[in-house]
Amino acid sequence: MAVVERIDAPEAGAQAAEPDGRRSRQRLLAPGTLEPIGEVELATPGDVEAAVERARKAAPDWAALPIRERGRILERAVSVLLERQDEWLETLTSETSKPELEAFAAELLTACDALTFYARRAHRILADQRVPLHLLKSKRLKVRYHPLGVVGIITPWNFPFILSLNPTAQALVAGNAVVLKPSEVTPLSGRLVAELFEAAGLPEGVLQCVVGDGGAGAALVASDVDKICFTGSVETGRLVGEECGRRLRPCTLELGGKDAMIVCADADLDRAAGAAVFGAFANSGQVCLSTERVYVVDEVADVFQRKVVERTSALRQGPGGEADVGAMIHGPQLEIVERQVADAVARGARVLCGGQRNPEWPGLYFEPTVLVDVDHGMDVMREETFGPVLPIMRVRDEDEALMRANDSRYGLSASVFCGDKRRGEQLAGRIESGSAVVNDTGMTPYGIAEAPFGGRKESGVGRVNGEAGLKGYCHTQSIVVDRWGSKDEPLWFPYTKRKERLLRRLARILWGTPLGRFLS
Ligand code: NAD
Repeated sequence: MAVVERIDAPEAGAQAAEPDGRRSRQRLLAPGTLEPIGEVELATPGDVEAAVERARKAAPDWAALPIRERGRILERAVSVLLERQDEWLETLTSETSKPELEAFAAELLTACDALTFYARRAHRILADQRVPLHLLKSKRLKVRYHPLGVVGIITPWNFPFILSLNPTAQALVAGNAVVLKPSEVTPLSGRLVAELFEAAGLPEGVLQCVVGDGGAGAALVASDVDKICFTGSVETGRLVGEECGRRLRPCTLELGGKDAMIVCADADLDRAAGAAVFGAFANSGQVCLSTERVYVVDEVADVFQRKVVERTSALRQGPGGEADVGAMIHGPQLEIVERQVADAVARGARVLCGGQRNPEWPGLYFEPTVLVDVDHGMDVMREETFGPVLPIMRVRDEDEALMRANDSRYGLSASVFCGDKRRGEQLAGRIESGSAVVNDTGMTPYGIAEAPFGGRKESGVGRVNGEAGLKGYCHTQSIVVDRWGSKDEPLWFPYTKRKERLLRRLARILWGTPLGRFLS
């Protein structure tokens, strides 16, 4: 089953042009109903190259604008988004079959916040920074943030709007032109980002959106861009990272996860169960920061499991305004979920809820599934599931929970539920992940614009969001100015024995005496 169908090209991933030079087309089906919702033409590598060239031409004028003026475009985008939210939501929900409230909250609300955050703060975050020098008082240091030029942004299908908009907004406000390649699975939602900025008055050429498949993504990575910001799977991220490494081109890689939740004996079990259910089944589990495995301390495991099952059984799945859990978006991902559940059951796992496609609906609905009696020999505990499955494993104590949480090649986010917040924070700090949350879901950090976000281990390279993320779209330049204008410097030629004695004495005073240590 597939939600995208190639109409006239040999196979997905191949160069998106027919031998006669025609671009291939792709039919899109709504995942909830499998009804056709549109067709798109796929960009060829030549199209990608042309888009990069157009962006390159537009980049200098855009970079020359004051940051506040660039920020005003972002603020106008918020107004456009609010005015046209119904239209945007219609595209998003028909292409992804997410519940409307979920699409609004996760895609549009977060977009308004991200746009406003960077619009209002970028001029301060990226302002020239005077740094007082601890030692060389004869110099002045200024740190300056220059736009990189053209940034290539490649995005996935699970949050097709916000994951395209957020990096694009940051790259733009930092003064770059952008070539965005959204996922071929959800191109209509990705394309909304370009429509939004066009309606907000972004000068022509500054943002190019190329609708294409993996071939177009590879062409963008191989093109003349100054940075790649990639969000997607570990497998593709590795290819992107290898190519960027070969070209010595900076990249951020936001990749998959297998986020653990630890439930301690003194945790508020109602809150922990609610968070586990939301963390596992929101967006039908297709969140890089989903709760993908729970380790619950044995003495509270029965009660916790019962509460999770009660809440899961109450979830409403299907199309329509009042559903909690929508369809999965991408057919091949649903097949991965089915394989992992079957593997777990074959190895002794018990299904407490769900465990199969929802027979009530024709589309890509997999029932919210709770598994127990799981272990690390099962794929569902080791590999990213990216679907509505919540495996729960009993552990002896917090130490075993921590050991198992860290027994993973992934390290994106994690959560700890603990009655004692200080102990919870200590546990969180020992989890090998890019972020960790105490008494809330592991998804929380992505919604906090100030929080630098990214993975450890195979979950990614680099950080996005917040000050660090915004500065990642810039060249950092140190400008040092001599203040005193003397004819000579102590370290310049000629080298003499006398100079060396003086320097040795200076070193002894500076780093060998209390006064010197205080001064340096
Ligand atoms: P994917 O890796 O299959 O595709 C991601 C994007 O890369 C798509 O636009 C695709 O067309 C493009 N692409 C494919 N081959 C390429 C190539 N050779 N070179 C360049 N680009 C190429 O991932 P997906 O299935 O779209 O998304 C799901 C994955 O994304 C999951 O693993 C999920 O955890 C991850 N994800 C991570 C984050 C994060 O912030 N860490 C956020 C969302 C999703």
